[in-house]
Amino acid sequence: MKCKCGNIISNIVFPCSTEGSIISQQNEEVLEREFVTEVKAFLSAVSSGRRDKWLVAKFGKDYPKDLSDADIILDLYTTTSDRYKLSIAECEKCGRIWIQETIGKNRYCSFSPDQGGYTGLLSRNRQGNSSRSPKLKGIEQSDAPKP
Ligand SMILES: [Zn+2]
Repeated sequence: MKCKCGNIISNIVFPCSTEGSIISQQNEEVLEREFVTEVKAFLSAVSSGRRDKWLVAKFGKDYPKDLSDADIILDLYTTTSDRYKLSIAECEKCGRIWIQETIGKNRYCSFSPDQGGYTGLLSRNRQGNSSRSPKLKGIEQSDAPKP
């Protein structure tokens, strides 16, 4: 994405320190309820011996069957939350914040900080260590640059 200052905001590396998401309290409440419902359905399928059938019905026949239950629950969270969150990006040159206008659409509106300049708003509020290694979006882990 090209920022108004001329900088190109890149999001090809994941996780990225200048990319993120926001969610309204209303959507967060719906997301939490929907996620819990999905997890309950999955755990019910596991306990009743329908795990593989449930995975095919939920994610399609190409979804890997050898994932741990924890990995599947994480996928449930990701697929559910993606329907409720807006993407945001922070320009590393001018500090402008770009917020996705509509979920699923590639249109963004921008907000410029009153104090001016890049402050690393997203990266300085990072908590803990990411369990995910940085990787290029859509490219296998082994092809990604080492951190
Ligand atoms: Zn900018």
